[in-house]
Order: sequence, then structure tokens, then C-alpha cells
Amino acid sequence: MRRALVAANWKMNGRQAQIASLSQALVAGLADISPLEVVICPPAVYLGQLQAALRGTALQLGAQNSHQEAKGAFTGEVSAPMLTDFGCTYLIVGHSERRQYCGETDAVVAAKFVAAQASGLKPILCVGESAAERDAGSTEAVVTRQVQAVMQVAGVAAFAQAVVAYEPVWAIGTGRAASAGNAQAVHAVIRALVAQQDAAVAEGLRIIYGGSVNAANAREFSAVADIDGALVGGASLSAEEFSTICAQFKTARKA
Ligand code: PEP
Repeated sequence: MRRALVAANWKMNGRQAQIASLSQALVAGLADISPLEVVICPPAVYLGQLQAALRGTALQLGAQNSHQEAKGAFTGEVSAPMLTDFGCTYLIVGHSERRQYCGETDAVVAAKFVAAQASGLKPILCVGESAAERDAGSTEAVVTRQVQAVMQVAGVAAFAQAVVAYEPVWAIGTGRAASAGNAQAVHAVIRALVAQQDAAVAEGLRIIYGGSVNAANAREFSAVADIDGALVGGASLSAEEFSTICAQFKTARKA
């Protein structure tokens, strides 16, 4: 039985005051989440604020990015060990916005994945095809390449302490989510890929879906065998909507 995980990716949104009220509302709305895992990933400068707001709750703290080196002359960057100072347990790695706007290659993503685990953070590895790649029929090839790039560097055993997020790029922030059936098919491909190397790791691996998940469609995703949770962007900025999404996954039955 895999424990479902719902993660909030606030991206570059929120200011101190808004984050204070949002985190307060989340703590109130998500007082009883067991057996679900819920992770909040705020902008890095607000990690300290969130650490204080979430203290004593079951809500976990995650980060949206970190550098692959542990320290050094990398102006403006934040390292994985620094994130652990704030009590982070998860790290989003390879989000499509970072691949697209910050030039993160498969090799960089793999290095960040390894660095995260070296610091005790659990990576949430994002993979997914663009609209053009989907239209060209290469979804499977793209996600296979992206997962393999990390598996080759980190080893399959590393996936026992990681989460994979399937996030079709065309579904992120567009309001056009993948259908649960299509997402399930890709999740099954990812699980089979990992199973080729280690069946037990594949069986335990949580593969979550991201891309326009909201309160209205979460139930559909939560009901599917290989969807073990959600990575939520826009809808995670509303405590009410995010709490509803979490409630759907909390009650969903998992393989
Ligand atoms: C994301 O940024 O990871 C994401 C899934 O965003 P949204 O939910 O807004 O599509």
C-alpha cells in the first residue's frame, strides 16, 4: 500500500502577509490528514516563515529548487543542506519551468536529485512531455528518457527514497488537465520502467500527477491505480481548494 502524497507548489507567488494567512488556513483545514502526506513548497525566502507556521503540525515543508553543489561560489543559489536547516523533507527537482526557463538539462536534474538525497531530502522528480512532443506521439519516449537519465546516475535503489511527478507540460497552469486514463497510462509506463530494474522499488514508488489538478477533478485522479497523489500549482494557493484536493486523496484506496 503506497501512502498518497499531495504537494503544493506555490511557485513565485505570495508575499509575507498572504503567506501568513494562507499557511494559517492550511493548518486549520488540514488538521487531520493521516494517512496522507502533505508537503508545502513555498518560495525559498519564505521557508523560515513556513517552518514556524507548520511547526507541530503534520504538514511537511519542501523546496522548489536547490543547487547541485553543497556550497561555494554560486551567487544567488541555495543548497540542499541549507534547505534542511529549515526542516525541509522534500525537494522538487526538474520542474518543467526550470527545464524550460533555467536551462536545466537531464544531467543537471540528475545531479540535483543526487545532491538532494545526499542531504536527506526526498526528491520529487518532475517529468513530462511538451504539447509538441505529445502531438508527435513521443510522450513515452520523453518520460522514459527523463526517468532513465536520473536512474543511470542515481541508481534504481535511490527511487525507494524519491517520488516521481508526471507533469505534462501542456497541462501545467493551463486549466487543461490530462484525463485520468491518459495519466494512468503514463504512470504505468514509468512504473514498468523502474520495475525492469527493481520490481520492489517500482511497487513502492509513488508516482503523482501534476497539471491543472483542482478540487473538481482530484477525485478522478485519486481513484486511479497508479496515481499516488498530486503536485498542485495554482489550486494550492487557495487553502479551501487545496484542502479539498487533499481530502480526495486521503480517502482514495491505493494498490
Ligand atoms: C505545477 O506547477 O507543478 C503545476 C502542476 O501547476 P498547476 O497545478 O497550476 O497546473
